[in-house]
Amino acid sequence: MKLCMIGTGYVGLVSGTCFADIGNQVFCVDKDEEKINKLNSGISPIYEPGLDELIKKNFKEKRLIFTTDLKKAIASSDIIFICVGTPNKKGSLKVDLSFVYKCIKEVFLLSKNKKIIVTKSTVPVGTGDEIEKMIKKKKKLFSVISNPEFLREGDAIRDFRYPDRIVIGSNNKNEYKIMEKLYAPIINKGAKFFTTSRRGAELIKYAANAFLATKITFINEVANLCEKSGINVEDVALGIGSDTRIGGRFLRPGPAYGGSCFPKDTKGLVSVGEKYKTNLTIVKTVIKSNRERINLLTARVQKILGNNLKRKKISFLGVTFKPNTDDMRDSTSLKMIPYLCKKGAQVSYYDPSGEKKEFKNLINCEFKKNIKVNCLNADLIILLTEWDEFKSIDFKKVVKKKNFKIYDLRNLYTREEMKGKKIKYYSIGRPDTN
Ligand code: NAD
Repeated sequence: MKLCMIGTGYVGLVSGTCFADIGNQVFCVDKDEEKINKLNSGISPIYEPGLDELIKKNFKEKRLIFTTDLKKAIASSDIIFICVGTPNKKGSLKVDLSFVYKCIKEVFLLSKNKKIIVTKSTVPVGTGDEIEKMIKKKKKLFSVISNPEFLREGDAIRDFRYPDRIVIGSNNKNEYKIMEKLYAPIINKGAKFFTTSRRGAELIKYAANAFLATKITFINEVANLCEKSGINVEDVALGIGSDTRIGGRFLRPGPAYGGSCFPKDTKGLVSVGEKYKTNLTIVKTVIKSNRERINLLTARVQKILGNNLKRKKISFLGVTFKPNTDDMRDSTSLKMIPYLCKKGAQVSYYDPSGEKKEFKNLINCEFKKNIKVNCLNADLIILLTEWDEFKSIDFKKVVKKKNFKIYDLRNLYTREEMKGKKIKYYSIGRPDTN
């Protein structure tokens, strides 16, 4: 099939590349010329394991085309995927759909023959209906389908190839068949093909993300209780997660949830609730608890190092919201690092995905090029992101200071290991060994 992805970000680039890899011709369009130029010279603008090779292969075989020329891409495609960002409006719970509607207007103006418009972006309930209203005059020329994306950054290619389910929302049953044909190579490998109304599909995406955010927040709060009551949260997580009604995934406590989806989608769901006069109290509480979590973590840093942080050297290992991605959106580090710097601490960080523009102008904050240089003079090492290369650091060899401490926000290390090495070690929801 001939496809056009509008928006070549995490979702548009990964899904476009994977669609090309199963034999489709895919135009990846972006308004960001620098991004398209990079892609045309063989450089991926994002860090995602396995993506570079897949882009190169499909680009070489001419199934993958990167362009800013929307007119040409639309003229050559039958299905148009909308993959642009849907952030929250500034200071509001509401979703900013201006990027989506701008694309729709462009598609509307540039289309000469029948097109299927598919929203892959996460959009609130009723967005498909609004799009249909916009194209009313030429209604027969367009179909509007919702196909929310569930891939996770860091595992995006695997998630696209082997999804738990493919959700297609349409008010026209014939359109399910076209999407089923497009996804056939993935369905044949065992993915569940799930069809529902367009509004149903739109809500599934928000409800899924809000539920996962709730699970994380729940175990984070249980971890707080474990810290106060001398219980190991990992035992509790295992004990409850073994119940198949609960399930063991997403029961690992850590920093506040972040990334490009959970924070904005929990808020987005609350605003959808408000639109339909439904009070989503659980989701509201999750948002509040997650916001407060960052204060709780910084308060613990002050408990570990003492209230006066002036000239204390704090080294962060990892700053992205999760490993195997360069995405910094809503990472706990974005609040924690500036706070500690403001308190006078000298912060350094190392992240395998490189230096971050977000910290460039921050006084007292420095990027270090590797683990060793980063940790050498540390009073406290804060492990914020569990990248593989942090798993087997010999801290006693790396850190010069004798009484350095480790605050492990991902429970990457065992207490026994740290006790054996006589390192002062603090983690999440586990009794301290010190
Ligand atoms: P992103 O910010 O990485 O990419 C969006 C891209 O769209 C940018 O490159 C931007 O330049 C481009 N763009 C904006 N307006 C455009 C226009 N008019 N024409 C052409 N290009 C335009 O965003 P993302 O993380 O890929 O997310 C996209 C959508 O997918 C969001 O709704 C998000 O909630 C959803 N989603 C994201 C993930 C994820 O893990 N990132 C997972 C599932 C769903």
